[in-house]
This record gives sequence, C-alpha cells and structure tokens, in this order.
Amino acid sequence: MNTTHPVFKSGNTAVITGGASGIGLAAAKAFAALGLNVVLADLGGDRLQAAEKGVAALSPLGADAVVAIPTDVSKLTDLEILADDVAARFGNVHVVMNNAGVQGGSALFGPLEQWEKVFSVNLWGVIHGSRVFGPRMLAHGEQAVIINTGSKQGITTPPGDPAYNTAKAGVKVFTEALEHELRNTEGSKVSAHLLIPGFVFTPLAAGGRTEKPDGAWTAEETIDFMMASLAKGDFYILCPDNDVPRSLDEKRIFWAAHDIIDNRPPLSRWHKDYGEAFKAFLDGER
Ligand code: NAD
Repeated sequence: MNTTHPVFKSGNTAVITGGASGIGLAAAKAFAALGLNVVLADLGGDRLQAAEKGVAALSPLGADAVVAIPTDVSKLTDLEILADDVAARFGNVHVVMNNAGVQGGSALFGPLEQWEKVFSVNLWGVIHGSRVFGPRMLAHGEQAVIINTGSKQGITTPPGDPAYNTAKAGVKVFTEALEHELRNTEGSKVSAHLLIPGFVFTPLAAGGRTEKPDGAWTAEETIDFMMASLAKGDFYILCPDNDVPRSLDEKRIFWAAHDIIDNRPPLSRWHKDYGEAFKAFLDGER
C-alpha cells in the first residue's frame, strides 16, 4: 500500500490557507519537506513572514519553493489574486488545503458580527477556495486534491458555539457535494477530502494554555494522520486525539444521527431526559 498519496511528489505545488499557524503550518512543513512548492496563504504580517522562513528551511528545493502570500479568505478577490499569483510563480496547483479558521465563540442571540465573521472565514473561505481552485485543477488535468478542514463540532454539534458549529456543518455538506461533483466530472483526476481534527493544541484551541493538555494531539500528529488517510483514499479524515478514540467518535456520530431516526429532540445527548440513555449507549454495544 502507498504510504503517501501520489499527489505529494517533488515539484508539485500546494496552497494552504491558514498556513501561518497550527494545523496549516504543520501541513506546510510536511509538504515542503516532501519537495513540494508551498504557498502559505494567511493574513499578512510578521507571523506569516516567520512561517515562510521556517517552512523554507525544510525545503530540499530551497527558499524559492516556499512563498507567503497575504490572503484574507473571506474575500473572493483575494483568492482569485492568490490563484493568479500562484499560477504565475509555480504553474499548476496539485494540493489546496482550505484550512483557515477562527473560533471566537458565539451566542445564539448574541452579536450578528460574530456570526458573520465566523461564516465569512470558516465557511465562505472554504467555498471561495474550492470554487476558485477547483475548476483550474480540473482544467490542468493532473492529479490533484482539495482538503477542507471541518470539525467534529460540525457533525455532532455540541452546544456552546452555535456559529462555529453551523459554519463547520456547512463545510461538511459543501465538501461532500464537492467530492460528488468532482468524481462525476468526466476526466477528473481531482478528489476532495474532509479533514476532521480532534482536539489539537494550536492557538485556536489553546484557550490560554501554554502547555499541551494530555488529551490533545499536536498539529504534527494531525498532519501525519491526514497523510496516512489520504494515502488510503479516505474522504472522511476523522482524527482521534489522546482522549477520544475513533470508537467513541463513531458512537457520538451514531447517536446524533439517531436523533432524527428515533425522533428524539435535537442534541439529545445534552438533554436531561436522554443523558442516562446516552451514557448507557456508550457503555454498551452499538
Ligand atoms: P490556528 O489559529 O493555529 O490557525 C488558523 C489560521 O487561520 C491562523 O494562522 C489565522 O491567521 C488564519 N486565518 C484566520 N482568519 C483568516 C482569514 N480571514 N484569511 C486567511 N487566514 C486566516 O488554528 P488551527 O487549530 O490550526 O485551525 C486550523 C483549522 O482547523 C481551522 O479551520 C479550525 O477550525 C480547524 N479545527 C481545529 C481544531 C483544534 O482543536 N485546533 C479542531 C477542529 C477543527
């Protein structure tokens, strides 16, 4: 079995949004080390410049193979300019990782600005990135992948941050539709994949902590898992972490889907009348 998806070959080109930090930065480092040209698309500034330097140091192709391009993924024009700049510099793009994200917290009836902000980055950023690069990747005819970063919060939708959950649910649905479109396009060698991280210790999830909690994975572990999953051809890249094995995720997802099938109230996992039943379900066989 291949241990690396064939798209990750030296001389190919990868674009990573949110590439200046966390999961995106770890992906950029892994791709650069494999000899890909790497484009870090993130909000501009010193952090992005530092990331470019750090990633370039790992590239066997030298510093010219790594470039940082300031990009705000919430703006369609930024992504169009990014695509043109990358084409001018490196030619065809083989890997797009729509990964930029924010998690500032939200309340159902709280400020609209927070909903708009989260949607514009976490959902529109993914839609823009896929719609700008997807047709170009189909047109060049070479094998290519689009990886969109979703979240378990978009699947089991725990209470607490409804704007984030709603946007990430949109990323799941959009990426499923994208893969359907790509696999039904004649001659397509492009596939889409949904990265579903567990708890990963990054600035987004640190919550003020300076040390990685035992339960969290590092961004590097997450990217190792992603690479192995892509090599197997997985669409749903459902990452565990040190607290949550895949078996627990499967039960949570199963329970959430059964809210509809069994005509329970939504989010019954957190409903006072169903909490015990959920616990019993976790303890029993599926
Ligand atoms: P991070 O904060 O380390 O990285 C996110 C990056 O996105 C930052 O560099 C940030 O500057 C960039 N970004 C924010 N707004 C942007 C914009 N408008 N345009 C371009 N770039 C922008 O966080 P991370 O944990 O590495 O997050 C990466 C992705 O993983 C996000 O989509 C996040 O929702 C998702 N995720 C993370 C976790 C976790 O536990 N860390 C869990 C599930 C999903």
